[in-house]
Amino acid sequence: MSQYLMKNKRGVIMGVANDASIAWAIAEAVHKEGAKIAFTYPNEAILKRVTSLAETIQPDSPIVKCNVSEPGDIHQAFSQIKEQWGEIDFVLHAIAFSDRHQLTGRYVDTTRENFLKTMEISCFSLTEICKEASALMPHGGSILALTYLGANRVIPHYNVMGVAKAALESSVRYLAADLGPQNIRVNAISSGTIRTAASSGIGDFHYIMNWNKNNSPLRRNVLVEEVGKAGLYMLSDLSSAVTGDVHYVDCGYNIIGMKAVDAPDLIIND
Ligand code: NAD
Repeated sequence: MSQYLMKNKRGVIMGVANDASIAWAIAEAVHKEGAKIAFTYPNEAILKRVTSLAETIQPDSPIVKCNVSEPGDIHQAFSQIKEQWGEIDFVLHAIAFSDRHQLTGRYVDTTRENFLKTMEISCFSLTEICKEASALMPHGGSILALTYLGANRVIPHYNVMGVAKAALESSVRYLAADLGPQNIRVNAISSGTIRTAASSGIGDFHYIMNWNKNNSPLRRNVLVEEVGKAGLYMLSDLSSAVTGDVHYVDCGYNIIGMKAVDAPDLIIND
């Protein structure tokens, strides 16, 4: 068993909604390497799906409620995990939310209410989770969040989510500096576009995916399993000297400055 990268490691995976979720791909990747996983769920509808997925890999997985916008839920969830396990080694934050009606059209039309809700769920939650999780990591650990290029560049319709991801990436750096002396690493993966429940709420997502496919250096979109493998790297000791980093797993799309000369012209319904 000693060859397994995640042998004797226990961690919390937050953000599985269904089997298309990036969190599920990372859960499968770390599970294959021997990790024990606790899952969280925000509501009863998702609990059913998380429970049936968790049973396929680890029938005794702790599954705890954590709606990150409910005051006290994050503390309660990590208290329950502490009761069961005492200590943990890793946490995945794969959580984002914004009103889908504002993930289309202009950023300037974002409402105050949705701006604050988006920031609370998609950004602030990482800070609160780091505080609670770090108390359960006396021997160090690895915390990973998921972000997107819309943090740094204007992507059509990504709007307030791009602003939240910019704040999330900045949070990763501040959290890495705060928790580094405890040997707790905090990083983010900036994933290329993947069709999931969350991304299907973004306006013209099909067009955005096709554009990325035609213009990324690898001329394709990233597979969710590839983000899973990168998640394994970040959550395991393979990345033991990496912290405060935003690691692109996007077939290289982030380096591109303009449309490829061989890329077809796309119309919005392509
Ligand atoms: P997903 O819909 O499978 O996952 C989003 C998760 O957020 C869901 O499990 C949902 O339950 C959870 N969530 C929303 N509000 C919550 C709340 N109040 N409390 C707790 N959980 C809550 O979609 P996904 O694409 O796998 O998203 C995972 C992460 O990856 C997100 O941070 C997303 O922004 C990021 N990301 C996705 C893409 C993509 O193209 N799909 C690209 C880059 C980054």
